Amino acid sequence: MSLDLPATGCRTAPVLRERGQREVFCGLTAIIWLHRKMPDAFFLVVGSRTCAHLLQAAAGVMIFAEPRFGTAILEEKDLAGLADANQELDREVARLLARRPDIRRLFLVGSCPSEVIKLDLARAAERLSVQHAPRVMVLNYSGSGIETTFTQGEDACLAAMVPGLPPATQRELLLVGALPDVVEDQMRALLTDLGIGPLRVLPAHVADQAPGVGPQTWFALTQPFLGDTHAALMRRGAQPILAPFPFGEEGTTAWLRAIADVWGVGPDRFEAVTAAPRARARRAVAAQAATLAGKRVFFFPDSQMEIPLARFLSRECGMIPVEVGTPYLHRDLMAAELDLLPAGVTLSEGQDVDLQLDRQAAAAPDLTVCGLGLANPLEAQGFTTKWAIELVFTPVHFYEQPGDLAGLFARPLRRRDILAQGGGA
Ligand code: SF4
Repeated sequence: MSLDLPATGCRTAPVLRERGQREVFCGLTAIIWLHRKMPDAFFLVVGSRTCAHLLQAAAGVMIFAEPRFGTAILEEKDLAGLADANQELDREVARLLARRPDIRRLFLVGSCPSEVIKLDLARAAERLSVQHAPRVMVLNYSGSGIETTFTQGEDACLAAMVPGLPPATQRELLLVGALPDVVEDQMRALLTDLGIGPLRVLPAHVADQAPGVGPQTWFALTQPFLGDTHAALMRRGAQPILAPFPFGEEGTTAWLRAIADVWGVGPDRFEAVTAAPRARARRAVAAQAATLAGKRVFFFPDSQMEIPLARFLSRECGMIPVEVGTPYLHRDLMAAELDLLPAGVTLSEGQDVDLQLDRQAAAAPDLTVCGLGLANPLEAQGFTTKWAIELVFTPVHFYEQPGDLAGLFARPLRRRDILAQGGGA
């Protein structure tokens, strides 16, 4: 079996780089999905009341369960340097861990305020790790919104774990990214049926299952926004498997094929394992593609999933990407994706939101994919929008989800048509 992947596309296309005002959520947002993947972890944001409100609003309040995240609020006296924030942090952590014996991994999550007062959370994590070892491992990363976008919260969290992973003792495949459990199970089943393994996952469900890493480790990213984790694994000697990302039938097949090639899986077995789910995926996408085909789509930079999704929408759904914005363009991770984007697309990196809004208005796309902050004003101007953050919260990977993924983009277009005909939404 061979894939029909053209060798040209946007790999060498010029990129419009902008460094102006940005409209994105901060990295704290990733705690909402990370805490579900790591039931023995606690995320302690060292931040302000604004940070606490963001988490509460995004996650809802867990009334019946012990929450697995919280905010150590920096008060005025901390921010003014009148109190020793380190002492207060040590006291709060000791209280938390005494009350919650189930916590095995504690993440100190930096924020804009903790960065502004230069609170050294790396040193705090080292100090607290010594105090609370071996029961609890204390790590730190930044979720600050000063220079980041929301999916970088996951990247920073996973990258923070890599230096502490034990050495690998055998050849293994490490799957990197916090996928919904149902999607992770599908991925494991496909790889196992292909005879690929042993399989390890980062982040591990519980601390005791932390994967080993070393020169015998091959790793494949499941999300396109894990550039720092990719670099951290390379520093540990692990070998990357680079491919398009597993969105849509084509991306999933190319991702699996790249891993299968490393493991020496023959074409017959690959075909036997993938033929039926591929056909299912194509049928599911076809049911949505009628709404999407020929429609023009514009991506504001937000989730860092923009390039793979534009590739999926263009090649499998017949959409026409006008501009594909991404917060950061990681050339190595995106090379295979850029090859598959149609030539002529405007690629932009970073943001200067006013200029980009002007380009969007001039392009008048059928569908605009953007953050929540831009969606309502654009809808008020008559544009049809899709919230990028939904793409992170919804299962969208591998063969069983492409229909749902296409449906996420088709729904706002159908709603627009219904409203235009004077019906209810
Ligand atoms: S980390 Fe920064 S951007 Fe995020 S909620 Fe706190 S203050 Fe706001």
